Parts: sequence; structure tokens; C-alpha cells
Amino acid sequence: MTLFEKIANHEIPATILYEDAEIVAFRDINPQAPTHVIIIPRKPITSVNDLTPNDAELIGKLVLVARKLAIDLGINESGYRLVFNCGPDGGQTVDHLHLHLLGGRVMGWPPG
Ligand code: AMP
Repeated sequence: MTLFEKIANHEIPATILYEDAEIVAFRDINPQAPTHVIIIPRKPITSVNDLTPNDAELIGKLVLVARKLAIDLGINESGYRLVFNCGPDGGQTVDHLHLHLLGGRVMGWPPG
């Protein structure tokens, strides 16, 4: 079982901000911005590389949960960044698909 599945199952503690039958969102343990939330599907998909057309609705829901959390956390007006890291060059360290919601500061571009 992946680390994030254990968080979704409440087997490892985390600050969970949202959960439903398909999606869980929790605060990143090592935040890279004043607001940094990880949004995952309960389904253990390894990465963006492993998505299929059957996952289209699920991925849409991840983005809509990010949008809702941005509003709830008060960063929708100031702005935010949504990131899927994929594979070694993308900086992915946990092999369970996840969407980063980052906000509360100005984000640089290009990313490091
Ligand atoms: P990535 O590098 O895109 O795979 O992102 C993985 C993220 O998970 C990193 O930002 C980590 O800080 C975060 N993370 C790792 N372990 C935990 C944990 N136990 N609780 C919350 N976030 C975690």
C-alpha cells in the first residue's frame, strides 16, 4: 500500500482538509508555500503516465476539489499553482498520483 493510501485510510496521521468516496486532500508535511495541499484519488494510480481515458472524470474531480479548497483557504483571488510532478525529472517522490495546490506567495517561473 502506498504512503498516500495509508493517509487516505487514516492509518497515518495527516491534516485532512477534504475527503469523499473518491478523493482525499491533506496538508503537505513539508510545505513549499504558505498553503500547500496534496489532493489524491483513493484509487492507487502511480502517476500521470498511468492514466487511461477511464480516469478522465476522476482527474477532473481532482481539479475541482483543488478549486474548492483554493476558495475555502482564501487563495482563489490572489492565485495559486496546481502541479502534477511525474517521474524522476518531474520531481515525483511518492508513487501515488497527486495534485499539489500551492498558494499564499508569488510563484516563480520557470520552476527550478
Ligand atoms: P512529489 O514530490 O510530487 O511526489 O510530492 C510528494 C509530496 O508529499 C511532497 O511535497 C512531500 O512533502 C509530501 N509528503 C510526503 N510524506 C508526507 C506525509 N506523511 N504527509 C503529508 N505530505 C507528505
